[in-house]
Amino acid sequence: MSQEQVAKVARYAGDGHWFRGATHTHSTASDGALPPAEMHRLYGEAGYDFLFLTDHDVTSDLESLGGPILGLNAAELSQAPGEPHYHLLAYGISRQVPRSLALPEKIEAIHGEGGLAVFAHPYWSGTPLDYFAGQDIDGVEIYNHAANWLNGKGLSLPHWETLLQDRPFLTAFAGDDDHHQPHEPALWRRAWVMAKARTLDKPSIMESLRRGDFYATQGPRFESIDLDGDAVRIRTSEVREIRLVGRGSAGKRLITPDPEATFTGAEFSLKGWNGFARLEIMDAQGRLAWSNGLHRPEA
Ligand SMILES: [Zn+2]
Ligand SMILES: [Zn+2]
Repeated sequence: MSQEQVAKVARYAGDGHWFRGATHTHSTASDGALPPAEMHRLYGEAGYDFLFLTDHDVTSDLESLGGPILGLNAAELSQAPGEPHYHLLAYGISRQVPRSLALPEKIEAIHGEGGLAVFAHPYWSGTPLDYFAGQDIDGVEIYNHAANWLNGKGLSLPHWETLLQDRPFLTAFAGDDDHHQPHEPALWRRAWVMAKARTLDKPSIMESLRRGDFYATQGPRFESIDLDGDAVRIRTSEVREIRLVGRGSAGKRLITPDPEATFTGAEFSLKGWNGFARLEIMDAQGRLAWSNGLHRPEA
C-alpha cells in the first residue's frame, strides 16, 4: 500500500505545548569545541527546552548527565566505505551504530531502538538523491545553518520536495549544526524545531517528532494550525508572508503590499487540493519557518 492510500488525519491537532529543540549540535566527543555538559548548559541558558547532541559517529549520553533542559541521545552517522557521501542524523538512540553499516542497515538499527533517521544537509553533502529515495527515512534536514555559512548550501527544500512526491508524510527538520568553535561565531540559535507535545519528556518529544507534530524555523512561529473540513486556519507570530505550498506549481499566498506591515494569521481553502499541502511563513527579517505536510497517516 502506498503512503497516499493510507487514511490521512490532521497534524498539529489536539492539546499540547510548543517546546523549542536544538536538533544538530556537536561537542568534544567529535569535532565540537565544548564538552557535552557545557553544550547542555549553554542551550538551557539560551531558552531551549530540549537538545539532541549529534556527534559524528558517536552516540551521545546526555540522558544520563541530567541538566537544565531535556537532553536526548543522538548521533550523526557518516557513510560506510564505498557509499556516496552522506550524513544521517539518528535521534533517540542509545547504542553505537557502526559506520561500516550500509544506509539501509543503519536505518534499521535506528528504528530498532525506536529512533528516527533524518537525512542531514543533503544540498551541502551532494548525495545523489536516488540514494535516499527508496530508503525508510523519517525526515530531511531542510535547513542547516553551518552549511549555509560554509558555502551557501544550507537550504535543501528542493530535496525534501522531491522526496515528498513519493512520500508525502516525510517531515522537515532545521538545525544549527553548531560546533561552537571560536572561529565559527554566531552559528547557533539560528535554526531549530518547535515540537507540540503533551509534556517535556523523552517519550512525548519523540512521539511529536515521529508524528510530525513539529515545525522547523529560523525564528517565526506558528502559534496554531487548525484544519476544519477543507479550511486551514493559521495563527503566527508577526509575519510578512504566509504561503500554502503544494505539488509542483500549486500554491496560495497572503502577502502584505505594505513593506512595513506585518500580520498574524491567514485562512486558506484546500478544496480540490491534490497531494501534499504544507505551510511557509516569512517574517520582516526574511527569516522562514516551514510546517510539515498538514496531514499524516492514521496511526
Ligand atoms: Zn553533517
Ligand atoms: Zn553536524
